[in-house]
Amino acid sequence: MNKDEHDHKHCLELFEKLSEYLDNELDEVTCQGIEKHVKECVPCFVCLQTLKRTIDLCKQTENRSVPKDFSEKLKEAIQNMPKSPSAR
Ligand SMILES: [Zn+2]
Repeated sequence: MNKDEHDHKHCLELFEKLSEYLDNELDEVTCQGIEKHVKECVPCFVCLQTLKRTIDLCKQTENRSVPKDFSEKLKEAIQNMPKSPSAR
């Protein structure tokens, strides 16, 4: 089994959609694609959790938009990610 073919490009594409996903603005198929991906991709899963929490915090302060700075940081994190698979 070669798990090394994880494509971070896909991660980045997904990132563009994450906030819409959390806002329930995406169709079911796209949502399922995201859910499937984060199950297999730990970095994306962690980022999704972080983004969720951030949005929750934003909602509490009645500001629903995610700071642009934040998503830029996430993108950077993905791009700088070492390519080693985390499977044991
Ligand atoms: Zn990913």
